[in-house]
Amino acid sequence: MFKFEGPALKLLFFIVPLLLLYGCSSPATKPPIPRSYVAPVMPKPEIIIPNAVQSELDRFKPRSWKYIVIHHSASDAGNASSIGKYHREVNGWENGLGYHFLIGNGNGASDGQIEVGNRWNSQIDGAHAGNGEYNKYGIGICLVGNFENRHPTDSQISSLVYLVNYLQKRCNISTENIVMHCNVRKTECPGNQFPYYDVLARLR
Ligand SMILES: [Zn+2]
Repeated sequence: MFKFEGPALKLLFFIVPLLLLYGCSSPATKPPIPRSYVAPVMPKPEIIIPNAVQSELDRFKPRSWKYIVIHHSASDAGNASSIGKYHREVNGWENGLGYHFLIGNGNGASDGQIEVGNRWNSQIDGAHAGNGEYNKYGIGICLVGNFENRHPTDSQISSLVYLVNYLQKRCNISTENIVMHCNVRKTECPGNQFPYYDVLARLR
């Protein structure tokens, strides 16, 4: 026999009063739905920036940045902690994570989760571009994943668009200075599946 337990039981408590309230109304009282009716399409996915991340973004007075440089991690999984550990211990970078921001893909961090690196919090040079000018004046954003093999997730792109919009306004960076890593150094990064022009088209 099916037993209502845990979440199912809670759902039942929620649904039963709703049914009592609305379930008995006569269908004849509802206006008919016109044949031409098309349900509005909600933007997918909706992006939710946790207050904690937004306040972390807002907390620091940015120094003068000129560029935004977009990367992929070229790995299937990762987060600020694991990639930062690699940069510190293997690359020997004392400031750890070379990027200013990381955007998770669901493997290691939540899908679309923006992680704020200590280089943003400290407003210091990045170690991501392999190019002095772009390390000094470029904000490094890395999306977790290997976009030689696959696309970023929809949530990652939504978060990236949000973050780039925010940084553009906050730091007064022009759209032509939003670049991919491969634009400033000979590299495949961020991969040939990265939808650069779609991202630019979504900026406002
Ligand atoms: Zn890169």
